[in-house]
Amino acid sequence: MSDPSYVLVVNAGSSSLKYRLVDGETGEAPADGIVERIGESSGRLKHTVGDAVHTEERAFADHEEALQAALDAFEEHGPSLADAGVVAVGHRVVHGGERFSKPTLIDDQVVAAVEALVPLAPLHNPANLEGIAVARRLFPELPQVAVFDTAFHQTMPPVAYTYAVPRSWLTDHHVRRYGFHGTSHAYVARTAAAALGRRVEDVNVIVLHLGNGASAAAVRGGFSVDTSMGLTPLEGLVMGTRSGDLDPAVHIHLHRSLGWSLEEIDRLLNRESGLKGLAGANDFREIERLRAEGDEAATLAFDVYCYRIRKYVGAYSAVLGTVDAVVFTAGVGENGPEVRAAALSGLTALGIEVDPGRNAGPVSGPTRISSDSSAVAVLVVPTDEEYEIARQALAVVRRQ
Ligand code: AMP
Repeated sequence: MSDPSYVLVVNAGSSSLKYRLVDGETGEAPADGIVERIGESSGRLKHTVGDAVHTEERAFADHEEALQAALDAFEEHGPSLADAGVVAVGHRVVHGGERFSKPTLIDDQVVAAVEALVPLAPLHNPANLEGIAVARRLFPELPQVAVFDTAFHQTMPPVAYTYAVPRSWLTDHHVRRYGFHGTSHAYVARTAAAALGRRVEDVNVIVLHLGNGASAAAVRGGFSVDTSMGLTPLEGLVMGTRSGDLDPAVHIHLHRSLGWSLEEIDRLLNRESGLKGLAGANDFREIERLRAEGDEAATLAFDVYCYRIRKYVGAYSAVLGTVDAVVFTAGVGENGPEVRAAALSGLTALGIEVDPGRNAGPVSGPTRISSDSSAVAVLVVPTDEEYEIARQALAVVRRQ
């Protein structure tokens, strides 16, 4: 009989807690769920086992009550966590700063270090810490592993992560580019290499993670050498509600000339910009629908979105020198053939040629959408961040 390999993956947000039971070896996931509106007067738990969905509407006072309710749902609706032989809890942690370049077994020192990084991720790290604290209380006997969104990008060279600002900003205040979506980029780069029948060590890949948040990564031989997000997840591609790249003087102009507060500008750039700011909708399906109706704002939003992707593909082709594959992933990347075609059209000079028929076809698992004559393979690879967290957590536990 093989060793047990199930990991309970926990992704704690400020008012939600997502969980999934995942086999860290195979990615098989017998159950998952989410508790939403934690701390509000009415919340909701949704627990899914195969095709069966169980919901519970009530108040969940805090993350402890939410995780306890999830454990009760496992008891009541299955599968039994005890029978599965869960070997670890894997936590998604957004910001690991310069300290964490690998998944890490959690102890009091690690918790203190993640706390010290709160100023770099004020919205995310406190919620992640809450999830860790609760899981440590409810599973005192299980190893807890932190898997950081930033860790994969810690291999970026100084030339890629350094902003051209006074050096003390970096040395004293850790102002530099970190990058995010690391678990997705790592998983997708590895899966793409396998789909090409190559070792990840032998290929250069540009990964385009296009979800509600979006980022590009240049991955050389399995190591991230550049990525589009920076100190925070605001930099880079156009996103659902975030602006992406911007002249840093825009803040100054809005503050000085119009008297807007920094808090307001921060909110507008993170929550009211991107596709939503340009066309009034952050859901890409809505942008596509409006564009099909001839809506001018949605058409421009679509074009700006694709143009920004194209610029990063060009930049990362130059960074990598040779590119074996361009890979689309996440909600828009996996489901948006029009974006894929528009972003990569006319790039035959870079050896990139999308096949219209393949691009329009169904995606199930890694799918090649480039033409046979394309020097660079263009792939769609569905991402699986929970599997990657489980895989990494399992590896940490097995090394103990
Ligand atoms: P994610 O953050 O990976 O869940 O991706 C969310 C984004 O994917 C949203 O903007 C959705 O509108 C977009 N999305 C999901 N399904 C589709 C689809 N069938 N066509 C276009 N965009 C989609």
